[in-house]
Formats: sequence, C-alpha cells, structure tokens
Amino acid sequence: MLKQWMIGGALLMGMACSAGAQTPWQAIRQPIAGPVQPIGSYANGCIIGAQALPLEAEHYQVMRPDQHRYYGHPLLIQFIQRFSQDIAQQTAGTVLIGDMGMPAGGRFSSGHASHQIGLDVDIWLQLPRQRWTPQQLLHPQPLDLVTADDKSVVSRLWSRDIDTMVRHAAEDPHVARIFVNPAIKQQLCLDAGSDRQWLQKVRPWFAHRAHMHVRLHCPANDSQCVEQAPPPSGDGCGAELQSWFEPAKPGVHPTKPKPPVLPANCQLLLDKHLL
Ligand SMILES: [Zn+2]
Repeated sequence: MLKQWMIGGALLMGMACSAGAQTPWQAIRQPIAGPVQPIGSYANGCIIGAQALPLEAEHYQVMRPDQHRYYGHPLLIQFIQRFSQDIAQQTAGTVLIGDMGMPAGGRFSSGHASHQIGLDVDIWLQLPRQRWTPQQLLHPQPLDLVTADDKSVVSRLWSRDIDTMVRHAAEDPHVARIFVNPAIKQQLCLDAGSDRQWLQKVRPWFAHRAHMHVRLHCPANDSQCVEQAPPPSGDGCGAELQSWFEPAKPGVHPTKPKPPVLPANCQLLLDKHLL
C-alpha cells in the first residue's frame, strides 16, 4: 500500500493542476461514475457516485469553491438544500456552506480527518442578510464565536439564529451527529428549554469555533458504509461537557494512533483511477 501511495504521490507531483497536493485523492477531479456507494468510515473511506452541490442557489452560498470540496452523497446534497430553505424562511439569512468532500471522497491534505465518504458538511454559524460577493466567498472571514480563554461564547456575536440553526440540523432524521466547540455546546445547553432531546446529537469537539460540522447517518441497509455508534443518551450538558473545560491531567499522553488501512475497495478505486 505504501508503494501505491508513493506512485499516487509521484503522479500528483507531475500534474500541474495539483501542485501542493499531498494525498492521491486530490488528483481525482470528477466523481467516480456508478451507483452511489459510500465506502468505509467517516474518517477512512471514499465514495463512488458523489454529486456536486449546485454552486448557484437561492438560500445558501458555497465558500472557497476553488477548493473543489463541494461533493457529497445525494443525501447530503438534499440535506443542505432542505436545511437552507428552512433556515432562510425562519431567519431571512443565507446559509454559508464550507467543506463537504472531494469528488471521490478520501483524505484531505489539510483541515480534516473525516469528510471522507460524502456524508459530512461544515456549515458556518453566521447568517448574512446580504449575499456575499464572489471575492468574499473565495476568502471567507470566520467569526470566532468563542472567547480567548475558551470558556464561553462571545455574547455580542451570539444570536438566537445560531440556536435555531443547530437545533434544526439536529432534528433532521438524517443527521447522526453535529460537532461544535465545547463553549458553543455549553451556550446551546443554557439556551435550550425543556425540550432537550436534540442536544444529544450535538457533540463537543476541538476547534469548531465558527462552524458546525454536520454528519449524516449511513444510508439505510448499506453494507459498505461504516456507521458510528450512537452518542450517549441524555443531552450531554452535564459532567461530560464540563470535562472539556478542565485542564488535561498531567502525565497522560495519549498514544498516537497508527494510520488506518484504507478499505480495499477504496484502494482498488485509487489504483484504477491513478495508474
Ligand atoms: Zn468538518
């Protein structure tokens, strides 16, 4: 496998349009034709039959389109369209879409470990009332919603629209998990009323200070898509969330995991399309 990666890498070096690419997946510039099939897990896999999210749309805008990270499973495309339409109606704002996946999925050179099987999307937690210009979309400025000490959100940047967005995504039956910064989860916990079931899907994670990362379930009865175990029961607002605000225990150094072995069908796909 190492050799195959090296061959992929060597090929990439020779392709003018892929300068700087560090994984072979970036050399695949079109979705792999065929019946749609996510293969592997969110953080180690690929996808056949991905679709491009339409770049022209009434209720959302796609940021950094030059990166070609706007591909995904048709279920993800449909989720984004449904979500944006609903949010536009509820808030009058435009949804800003960040990274989805590459045309054949796979590992990015930077920025994410997951987003590999076409079922993840980053959605920014701001809703401009005026559409951004192409220049703004190429160089988007994130709003850091978390204070410098990481303990809370910046109150002047927080709005009920953010609660609305996260809750609406969490209540979508296709959504499995949503990752946000622990301080953002904490604020959602504070703002939520007695109906708190949706908070179970909202998981604290590092970074994610300006966006939520929405992850869909694997399609039903799909034998090659590896679903994650469901989040623990409850709203996740108690001890688990608090543990994110405590200093790391001294002397505990997590061991670096070994790089995962690519699913065989993804390796086959690479071999076929890069050699
Ligand atoms: Zn993400």
